[in-house]
Amino acid sequence: MSTITDVETIALRARVDAKDFDSSSETLVVRVTDEQGRTGVGEADAPAEAASRLVLMNDVHAWSRGLRAMLVGRDPFEREALWHELYEGTLWHGRRGLGIHVLSAVDVALHDLAGKQLERPVYQLLGGKRRERLTPYATLWPGAVAGRTIDQMMDVISILAQRALKAGFRAVKMEVFFGDLIGDNELVGCIREGRRLLGDDTTMMVDFGYRWRDWRAALWVLNRLEDCNLYFAEATLQHDDLVGHAKLASRCETRVGGAEMAATVHECKEWLERGSVDVLQPDIGRCGGLTELRRIAQLAELYGALVVPHFWKTGITAAASLHWQAASPNAPFIEMLSPAVFSSPLRAELTQPEPEVEDGTMALPTAPGLGIELVEEAVRTYRVPT
Ligand code: MG
Repeated sequence: MSTITDVETIALRARVDAKDFDSSSETLVVRVTDEQGRTGVGEADAPAEAASRLVLMNDVHAWSRGLRAMLVGRDPFEREALWHELYEGTLWHGRRGLGIHVLSAVDVALHDLAGKQLERPVYQLLGGKRRERLTPYATLWPGAVAGRTIDQMMDVISILAQRALKAGFRAVKMEVFFGDLIGDNELVGCIREGRRLLGDDTTMMVDFGYRWRDWRAALWVLNRLEDCNLYFAEATLQHDDLVGHAKLASRCETRVGGAEMAATVHECKEWLERGSVDVLQPDIGRCGGLTELRRIAQLAELYGALVVPHFWKTGITAAASLHWQAASPNAPFIEMLSPAVFSSPLRAELTQPEPEVEDGTMALPTAPGLGIELVEEAVRTYRVPT
């Protein structure tokens, strides 16, 4: 056993645009170190400056403790026991918000470190491989509308689609955060154009960016897209409109997805029971880490649902997603923010090596832990004080 000797936070910030939705513009990395100097890393998809304080803060009382103080001196191998201890130690301010996001980062870092200690890839710590190849999908994010016309937006989507296919992806998600730039009728035409750009052999998903407050409007559009063979429809209704999701899911042919902002198995259970969604999309860096995403996937299986985690961060979460899919039977795809498709400095530069996509699939990682290293030059370039 080699215990944890240090827990650091590394806040990194590249380009931030408050009018866009690019959460890879910033990250909070949590790095844990053991007695032999081995390190494990995880990241939270949360505001880095605020999240960092929850790691480094002094204890307030038994339900409001700093994570660092609870981790130093502990055995990283006991991940699940530690998860519960950290969860209870942050109950007062954690549970569903920033506290669980930071716990997510710690949990991934503990998996990385324990894997390195055992010299085994993380997917083996998650129960072992359930598949020989991994299947990512690429997301086409054209950016927020920001004064552009729909033709300009579709031109960007067309370029991104070509990049994704050229990079080897055979599953692609089109993001249609068009707001009131176009009406629903025109939206149907844009998605048909997306299908034409991708060809019939590509698996196609659509993220509607929380377009509707009216499930019947969402149903109207999805009914008109049945011949586009969409794999799932994401973020159709408002995130907390679970009743609307349930009505939509019971009436349309397309799989209904959601829950990208959901924290823990408890919130995902509400999405399954009350929202009746077909696809849960929690984020590893928000929902509670690998430990919790495993519980979520096990629960989803009991409800006949799939889990396809959201991911829009750096190579740390990319690696965590690969290991998680390797060990998860009801995870047909993982979201992959690919540096070959979307330009994001932190995603492209923070970690190495970058996994290769080959005819739509990726190989299982073989190196110990998450199998990636932080690039120290990128850390120096983008680090901001916490
Ligand atoms: Mg989304």
